[in-house]
Amino acid sequence: MAAAPSAPHRRVVICGGGVVGACTAYFLSTHAAAPTVPTLVEKCAPACAASGKAGGFLALDWCDSTPALSALARASFALHRRLAAALDGTNAYGFRPVHTLSICLPSEARSSSPHPLLPPWVDPSASAAPPRELGTPDTTAQVHPGLFTKAVLAASGAEVIIDEVERVVVRDGRVAGVAVKGRGVVDADAVVLALGPWSGRLEMVREVFDVSGLKAHSIVLRPREPEKITPHALFLSYQPEPGAKMLDPEVYPRPTGEVYICGMSKDEDAPDDPATIAGEPDSIAMLHKIAGKVSRQLRTGEGAKVVVEQACYLPCTTDGLPVIGEMPGVKGCYVATGHSCWGILNAPATGAALAELILDGKAKIVDLAPFSPARFLKRRSRRGA
Ligand SMILES: Cc1cc2nc3c(=O)[nH]c(=O)nc-3n(C[C@H](O)[C@H](O)[C@H](O)COP(=O)(O)OP(=O)(O)OC[C@H]3O[C@@H](n4cnc5c(N)ncnc54)[C@H](O)[C@@H]3O)c2cc1C
Repeated sequence: MAAAPSAPHRRVVICGGGVVGACTAYFLSTHAAAPTVPTLVEKCAPACAASGKAGGFLALDWCDSTPALSALARASFALHRRLAAALDGTNAYGFRPVHTLSICLPSEARSSSPHPLLPPWVDPSASAAPPRELGTPDTTAQVHPGLFTKAVLAASGAEVIIDEVERVVVRDGRVAGVAVKGRGVVDADAVVLALGPWSGRLEMVREVFDVSGLKAHSIVLRPREPEKITPHALFLSYQPEPGAKMLDPEVYPRPTGEVYICGMSKDEDAPDDPATIAGEPDSIAMLHKIAGKVSRQLRTGEGAKVVVEQACYLPCTTDGLPVIGEMPGVKGCYVATGHSCWGILNAPATGAALAELILDGKAKIVDLAPFSPARFLKRRSRRGA
C-alpha cells in the first residue's frame, strides 16, 4: 500500500529569545499534527532582556476590559497551568498561585495595628488604609520569568544561534531566510520576528508599525528570613511627598526565597545592545526606599542582601494591543511583539496561536484578527488619504 504523503518540511526561524520567541518555539515543536523544531536566533542570551527581568505575575481576568486581550489572557492563563503541569514538576521555574493585595504606602512613618489581610512579613505601618484583595490563588499566579523562558525554550529542542539578526530575506513576496551577522543567510520557509522593543529596528517592521520602549527598573532582594515570606503579590501606591508624582511599584516574593520589586518607568528607546542596559541610581534608590517601607525583612541595613539591581524595556505599540500575525505583503513572515506589561502572561497563547497559523494556516486558540499588523496599514493609508 502506498504511504500517505507527508506534510511538507517547514524550516522555521524565530528571531529573538525572549518569552514570546521561546513560547512560539515550544508550541511549534509540540504541534500535534506537524511538530516542527525551529531554529532561534538571539543576539545576547535567551531571556537577557525584559523576559528575564520582569515580575512574572499572571492574572486570569485583569485584561477583561479589552475583549481581544481578554481572550488572549484567559487562554494564556489556562496554558500556564498546563505548561506548569508538563514542565514545572521539579519546580524548574516556580509556577505558583498567589494572593494579591493592593496597599497604599504612607508618605510619613506611622504606627498602626496589623490588618487581617496583611501577611505577617509586611509591616503593619506599611498600609495607610485597609488593604484590598485584588486576586486570589484561583485568579492570580506567578512564574520566575527568566527560568520559565529558558525552560520552555529548552523543552522545544530548538537550535539556538547566538548572533544578531540583520534583516529578513524576501524573494518574490515570500520569505526566503534570515541574514545573520556572523553566518550569512539562514534559509527559512517561515520566519517569526519576536524582537520585543527592538522589533522596529528592522525596516520591514518600521514600514508597517511603530514599537517603542518603556524603561522600567527592578531590584531583587534576599530577605533576612526567606522562610517567613508568603506567596503574596503586592500592588502599591505611594506618593513620596505631597505634590510628588504617584508611584505604583509592585512586590513579588518568589519561591526561590527572593523578593522582586519593580517600578519607576519612563519613555525611552532601548539601546542597540540589550547587554548594556543599566538602571538609573535614583530609580534604584527609590525602589530600595519602598522595599524598606514595606517590610523590615527587605531593609539592607537590617540583613536583607541585594541580589540584583537592573532595568529593561517594555515593548509598546501605539494602540496598546500586541501585534501578532503575518506581515502584510511578505508571505511566511510573522511578527509577535508589543505585549507591554503582560508579555509573560500572554506569551503562551501568542506562541500557540502563531504555531497554529504557521502549521495549520489558521489560529484556533484565539482570534488573531484584532492583533493583525495589517491594522496599522489601514490607519496609515487613512491618515495619508
Ligand atoms: C519591570 C517589568 C516588569 C514586568 N512584569 C511583568 C509581569 O509581572 N507579568 C507579565 O505578564 N509581564 C511583565 N512584564 C512584561 C514582559 O516582561 C514583556 O512583555 C515581555 O518580556 C516581552 O517579551 P518579548 O519576548 O516580546 O521581548 P524581550 O524579552 O525584550 O525579548 C526580545 C529578545 O530579542 C533579542 N534581540 C533584539 N534584537 C535582536 C537582533 N537583532 N537579533 C537577535 N536577537 C535580538 C533581545 O536580546 C531579546 O532577548 C514586565 C516588564 C518589565 C519591564
